[in-house]
Amino acid sequence: MLAEFGNFPMMFYAAVDFRNRLCTKLFPMKILMAVSELAPYVKTGGLADMVSALSRELCRGGDDVRVLLPFHGSIAERWRRDMRPLEGPLAVHMGEERWARIHELIEPGGLRVYFLEHHRLFERSGIYGDCYGAYCDNGERFAFLCRGAIDLTDFLHWIPDVFHCHDWMAALVPVYLEMVARHGPLSHSASVLTLHNMEHQGYGDRSILSTAGLPQWLFRSDALEACGGVNFLKGGIYFANKIAAVSPSYADEIRSAEGGFGLDHVLRFRGGDLVGILNGIDTELWNPATDPHIAAPYALGNLGGKKICKADLQKSCGLAQRPNVPLFGVIARLQWQKGLDVLCDAMPWILDSMDMQFVLLGTGQWNLEERFRAIARSNPGRVFVHIGYDEELAHRIEAGCDFFLMPSRFEPCGLNQLYSLRYGTLPIVRSTGGLRDTVKNYDNSADSGTGFLFNDLTASAIHGTVGWACHSYHNRPEHISAMISRAMAEDFSWKASAERYRHCYRWALEKKA
Ligand code: ADP
Repeated sequence: MLAEFGNFPMMFYAAVDFRNRLCTKLFPMKILMAVSELAPYVKTGGLADMVSALSRELCRGGDDVRVLLPFHGSIAERWRRDMRPLEGPLAVHMGEERWARIHELIEPGGLRVYFLEHHRLFERSGIYGDCYGAYCDNGERFAFLCRGAIDLTDFLHWIPDVFHCHDWMAALVPVYLEMVARHGPLSHSASVLTLHNMEHQGYGDRSILSTAGLPQWLFRSDALEACGGVNFLKGGIYFANKIAAVSPSYADEIRSAEGGFGLDHVLRFRGGDLVGILNGIDTELWNPATDPHIAAPYALGNLGGKKICKADLQKSCGLAQRPNVPLFGVIARLQWQKGLDVLCDAMPWILDSMDMQFVLLGTGQWNLEERFRAIARSNPGRVFVHIGYDEELAHRIEAGCDFFLMPSRFEPCGLNQLYSLRYGTLPIVRSTGGLRDTVKNYDNSADSGTGFLFNDLTASAIHGTVGWACHSYHNRPEHISAMISRAMAEDFSWKASAERYRHCYRWALEKKA
C-alpha cells in the first residue's frame, strides 16, 4: 500500500504528460513567431538558433507554426532561391498604410517562414547596426515588424492561437494585439513574450509612438514610458499574456535590480505570469556523429574521432601538434556581457603558468578584438584568434577542444555550453543564469559533474579554475573521461522544453479567455 502511495507522484506526472501529449495531438495549435533573426537564414547569436529549433520541434509535434522575420539585406542568395513571393502587397497599418512584400519559404519539415520585405527599412548590410553603431531608426524598423505580424494574419486568412514574440525587437506585438483585438478576428489570440536578454530593451524617443501608429495614452509608466522615453520591452512585458525567460535561474535573476536592467519592478509586478523555460538545442545540427563540418565523426563510447578533430583544429589554426596539451576554446560575441575582458586580463597569467593552448572565434567590440589579437601575436603556436563570424569553424572548435570557456557576467541561457556538453568538450563557466542550470560542477571526491563552475568574475577566479581543469586533465584522466561521458549523455533536446512552451501557450489562452 505504502509502495503504491509512494508511486503516486510518478503516476500523476505521467498522467499529466499523457494528457498534454493527447491535447497536442487532438488540438494542434496555430503559432506565429515574430523574431528579428532566424537560423540558418540570418543569425548573430543564440536567439536565431532558439527560435529555429523550437519552431521545428513544435512543427514535428503537429502544431501549425509559422515564423515572420525581416527580409534582411544580408540573407544569402542560396536562401533567396527557395523563397516564393506571395501575391499582392501587405498593408502594414502604422498610422497610415505602408506597403510591404511577403516572401514565403517552406522548410522540408513543414515550417513556414515569411520574410517581410521593405527596401528602406531592411535592405542593409547589418541586422541591428553597422560599424557606426546601432541604426538610429531601429524603433521604426522593429515596430514595422511587429505591426507586420498583426497584419500578416489577415493577409494569409490565418488566425494564430498564439503570437510568440522574442525580445524587444518583437515586444510591440502584444501591444498592437491589445490595440486591435478587442472585437475583431484576433480577439481570441493570446501573446507570449520570451525574454532572451534584458540588457537590450529598445529604448527611444516619445515620437516613435506616432511613427508606429500607437496612441499617445501608452506614454505612461504602466505601459511604454520609461525615464522620459519609450521602452518597447517594458510595453511587451506589460501587455503579453504570459512571459517566459530562457532559463529558470534567469527568470529569478531578472526580478532583481542587478538582472532586471531597470525593469525588475515590472517583472515582479508580472511575476505570476513569468516562467523560466530552459532552451534546448537542435540535436540534428549539433551532432558530433553526423556533423559535416568536423574532421571525423564520433559519439559517446567511441571518441576516436574527437582526437582527429583536435589534431585537425591544431593544424588549421597553426598550433603545435600536441595531442596531450589541453586545448581551450571560446566562441562568442565580444561584448561586455560575455566577461571576456576579464579573461583577457587573466590570459598572460594563465599562459605563463600553464602548458595549454587557446582558440578564440568572435567579433564585437574593437578593443576586445585588438586585445585578443595582441595575445595571439605574442604567443604563436599556442594561441589562435579568428575575428569574424564563421559557422563552420564554430563546429570545429566545439569538436576539437578539450574545454570551453564562458566567463559571462550574465548569461540568460547560453547555447554554446550545451553544444560543448554534446561534443564532450567540458565547459568552464561562471555560475550564472542558464550556465548554472545546465553545467554540474566537478567534484573530485565524488567523481561527479559535467564541467567546472566559478562564482566571482575575476582574473584570479578564471586563472584558478583553468588551473584546476589543467591539473585534472593531467592527473585525473579517468575523471575527465567519466565527465566527458556524463556530459555527452545529457539530453538538452527540445522535446521537454517544447512541451513546456505548449503548456505556456495553453496557459496564455486560458488567461485570454
Ligand atoms: P548569445 O545568444 O548571447 O550570443 P549563445 O551562447 O546563446 O550566446 O549563442 C551564441 C550562438 O552564436 C552559438 O550558436 C554560437 O556558436 C554562435 N556564435 C557566436 N559568435 C559566433 C562567431 N563569431 N562565429 C560563429 N558562430 C558564432
